[in-house]
Amino acid sequence: MNKVISSKKLAVKKERQQQKLDSGYISTHYPNVEGIVINMMYSQTTGLNKSLPRTINIAPDSYAYFRVECLIKDCIEGGFDLTQPITKMISKRSKTSKGELVCEGEGSSERHSSITYEVAIQYS
Ligand SMILES: [Zn+2]
Repeated sequence: MNKVISSKKLAVKKERQQQKLDSGYISTHYPNVEGIVINMMYSQTTGLNKSLPRTINIAPDSYAYFRVECLIKDCIEGGFDLTQPITKMISKRSKTSKGELVCEGEGSSERHSSITYEVAIQYS
């Protein structure tokens, strides 16, 4: 990784860390949500030839921040933003949802990674 990329990446990382802290807690924003489970399958179109499964558990005392980072090292400002689908689900009190997202970042090639996800939300 070259110096320009790593300093840019660090800046983005700091910015996101701040966003996360600013976003507040699930229990504050969505008091009726008892838990969120995101099951996802991460795949890259280059390099890695297999899909990586990942599960993310979000509790009421977690931050209301639903961005998943891309695993590609040179990826700048990438990642998968689940904020839209999740907040939409909560507003409709829907329990499960599936979808697919493509990494938004700049990197070695376009559409270098994507996820398919399943979100399950428990309400009180
Ligand atoms: Zn990426």
